Amino acid sequence: MTNTAALTTGTSFRVPTETAPGAAIDRGETVEVTIDGHAITAYRGDTVTSALLANGYRTVGDSIYLGRPRGVLTAGVEEPNSLVTVTRDKPGAIPETMLIGPTVEVTNGMVADHLQGIGRLADQADPEYYDYVYAHPDVLVVGAGPAGLAAARQAARAGARVLILDERATFGGNLAGTPGAEIDGQPADTWIADTVEELQNHDDVTLLGRTTVFGAYENNMFMATQRRTDHLDDQVPFGVSRERIFHIRAKQVVLATGAHERPIVFKNNDRPGIMLASGIAGYLNRYGVQAGSTLALFTTNDSVYPLAHQLAANGGLVAVIDARPELSEAAQAALSAGIEVIAGSVVADTTGNDHGELTGITVAAYHDDGSLGATQQLEVDTLGVSGGWSPVIHLHSQRQGKVVWDNDAQAFVVGQPRKSFHYVGSITGSLSLHEALAKGTQAGAAAADATGHHAELKSPLTERGASGPIAPLRMVASPDGDDLDAYADHFVDLHRDQTVKDVLRAIGAGMSSVEHIKRYTSISTGNDQGKTSAVPAIGVMAEVLEGHTMDDIGTTTFRAPYSPISYVGLAGRQRGHLFDPLRKTPMDRAHEELGAVFEMAGEWRRASYYPRQGETKAQAVRRETIAARNGVGMIDSSTLGKIEIRGKDAAEFINRIYTNGFLKLAVGKGRYGVMTGVDGKVMDDGVTLRLAEDRFFMHTTSGGAQRVLNWLENWHQTEWSHLDATFTSVSEQFATVAVSGPKARRVVEQLASDVDFAPDAFGFMEFRETTLDNGIPARISRISFTGELSYEIAVPSQYGRALWDTVAQAGAAFGITPYGLEAQRILRAEKGFVIVGQDTDGTNSPQDVGMSWVISKLKKDFLGMRSYQLDDFQRDDREELVAIMATDKTSWVRDGAALVSEADLNAPRPVATTGHVTGYYDSAALGRTFGLALVRGGSQRIGEKLYAPAYDPPVEFEITPLVSFDPEGTRRDGEH
Ligand code: NAD
Repeated sequence: MTNTAALTTGTSFRVPTETAPGAAIDRGETVEVTIDGHAITAYRGDTVTSALLANGYRTVGDSIYLGRPRGVLTAGVEEPNSLVTVTRDKPGAIPETMLIGPTVEVTNGMVADHLQGIGRLADQADPEYYDYVYAHPDVLVVGAGPAGLAAARQAARAGARVLILDERATFGGNLAGTPGAEIDGQPADTWIADTVEELQNHDDVTLLGRTTVFGAYENNMFMATQRRTDHLDDQVPFGVSRERIFHIRAKQVVLATGAHERPIVFKNNDRPGIMLASGIAGYLNRYGVQAGSTLALFTTNDSVYPLAHQLAANGGLVAVIDARPELSEAAQAALSAGIEVIAGSVVADTTGNDHGELTGITVAAYHDDGSLGATQQLEVDTLGVSGGWSPVIHLHSQRQGKVVWDNDAQAFVVGQPRKSFHYVGSITGSLSLHEALAKGTQAGAAAADATGHHAELKSPLTERGASGPIAPLRMVASPDGDDLDAYADHFVDLHRDQTVKDVLRAIGAGMSSVEHIKRYTSISTGNDQGKTSAVPAIGVMAEVLEGHTMDDIGTTTFRAPYSPISYVGLAGRQRGHLFDPLRKTPMDRAHEELGAVFEMAGEWRRASYYPRQGETKAQAVRRETIAARNGVGMIDSSTLGKIEIRGKDAAEFINRIYTNGFLKLAVGKGRYGVMTGVDGKVMDDGVTLRLAEDRFFMHTTSGGAQRVLNWLENWHQTEWSHLDATFTSVSEQFATVAVSGPKARRVVEQLASDVDFAPDAFGFMEFRETTLDNGIPARISRISFTGELSYEIAVPSQYGRALWDTVAQAGAAFGITPYGLEAQRILRAEKGFVIVGQDTDGTNSPQDVGMSWVISKLKKDFLGMRSYQLDDFQRDDREELVAIMATDKTSWVRDGAALVSEADLNAPRPVATTGHVTGYYDSAALGRTFGLALVRGGSQRIGEKLYAPAYDPPVEFEITPLVSFDPEGTRRDGEH
């Protein structure tokens, strides 16, 4: 896997400080590393590739399929060739693979090896730790190049809270280290340093380097990853995580992500020594490294000319080959400065040495129709190519932002801005520094303005500069004719090793859509996700496909992550025993102190029952149910799932999710709802409160909270994205105590003197927002899961324990009794209330479990509705939930016990079961045991006998109506 063949050709080298100091390096500090087996002395701030080039190594490995030698192409995250496995010299460090060479900063003792496209994960667990942070800036600026810095500076001066992030270690983007550029009459680097300092000194600004914004999601949610310690030797401060994932919610967003230069496709364009011109400029300006000794530049646009002047001054520049027939102003200026500019020409082929490294280029005259003319040979060891610039529109496209082809910019640019997004700098397709600064400042002001912060607009000043046209050239015809094989060495995707021939074969196979060709050839599917190959590939298609243009071919959709990120970083602290931690409610200690026996309910630990000295489980549970039926009980119901739903279409959304109607639910009231899958089968249930016209508070089952949230998000994102609704999980934000029993009112009356608890003032299924007399903010709802008068009191989680104690104290005079899950199961079963997942098994409709009433008779559509017309739902032998009573009042059977009819009891085996027991209990209120069961045609068989044949003798039951206790519901309002 490892390539150790990197050769020193001595063609690339570190230049003296006077020539180019290198904005990213500290020449005062050396760093010793081993790269591809070579012991190398680098400087602090160097990357794997800058260190290699500084020491004369330029080959980074052989290509993945064809085994062709490849070299460094770029100086950034878009690099397709240089992928490394890195082991740092830190205690316990494990090798990490598939890292992008130009982004890996060197540290002392580090060992880096290039690989050929595919890495291997380490066998050992990663000993480092990773965490999360949440940020809520007014303005998020992505990219700290000149455009981003200008935007952040203006927004900060206006007083907005600004978060500005850049993936690089140094700020200033492509401007960093560029000689000659001036801003506000000073060298550009001085302006960058001053601006960075101003931002860093600002209390409300966070400026972070080494932080990649990798994902953009709905409602201005962004994800970023910050690499905090990789650039340090072993002096990592104690407790500092290696990486941090940022969850960012920004009011306004400025995308100043710049542009990636792209190659031009020509014959043998993949040799070590052929680079992007911006790569050569990047190594020179940021690292003080010149990538070659004799160099040529090949361009379609003006962006290489500043570099041409630099290289000419350093010595070694042979020529600039400019595809445009007419000299632009910049080309003319170069010519006047004595630079050889070969206009109207292209590079048609290259030559290499025994190791495949570049030794020369064939320059050909380029005609309007794309054909080639007279050729000449130039001897160079390095070629810098600029086929134009591709704006970094990834985050915009990830948000389904429209992308269009701009013929002037020769680039895919933002078609339609996203709401509250601003786009500045070279992401717009403009290459002008003047424009980057002016537009950046304006966007910073507009973004701050939109968040209520204003300041005088003050744009940094720089020369306007002129920019010539960009030639629409993406591929140079083969000098060897036009059959397939003449294009076998025209490389489109260096990472995937795909050529024009591969694209032609895909087209020959009948494909014309970019999506299909991408998948057929695998172009743009590599580690680099096509940052340098996508547009050239589309260019080749536009050239070959009759009647097609760049615009109608279009790009494929960009998806997160923008650049590779580590899974372990995403996992954060949720590893090992924290992967699935034991969840305890805020009152858990109180249950412990009461001697509770616990059980697991979903991921939660909940009190099952509270045995007193000498009590058996059955005795304790019985005592608890009697208290709730005859006096008053209290239960910790904090674990119920809770989702807050907001938006002007929230009611409409919920109305589609639940089988019953929610549009007309009044503010201040709650309603029980059942949600079914599209198959009409019960999925979850709970009470939803309407807090305001556009605000609902949905309760789900304890175990179903995550599933329901996903369900809502799924429907919102895939089908009903036009509905204005957002969903926030708040399950852990509230602690809840339910007070239940005939004396419940007497207890709650003592807690909140502001609330009128009289039955006619505070009705069933209503709620009140209040502050308890002890100062705790609370929401009190009249919801009952026992059939008795009940109040659920919900408070912010941190007050959970205080609430529990307050209720216990207020109830002491009435003998309030804590009850657990076991008692609750009995109390609700007596009332025929369903527990989703216990009494249902994923095949039952609401009608099957006694809830025909919950299916809206209105003309509304809801998920699952149409399935009720299916024959299967009309069958009269569907399993239906009923109650069963053993003939012997003390008999008891297990949950799940199979039931058969009298006729089948003694029939030869096997026989079909008639149903099964979903729960069997000892009921103090009924003075006997009883249970719930799913029975075929159950509601039509009341009075029939059933048997549990697994017992000897078989247990005999009678089928009874689902509601066994207080069927008229007279107890709901408590004692009078
Ligand atoms: P820039 O390229 O200078 O800066 C963009 C910054 O954003 C970079 O540092 C990049 O690493 C960072 N970035 C991109 N995506 C990111 C992400 N997802 N997360 C974190 N960081 C990310 O671009 P700019 O600020 O628009 O400024 C444009 C500058 O480039 C001007 O100076 C312009 O003159 C110059 N430019 C010049 C030419 C030329 O003609 N020579 C060509 C292109 C650009």
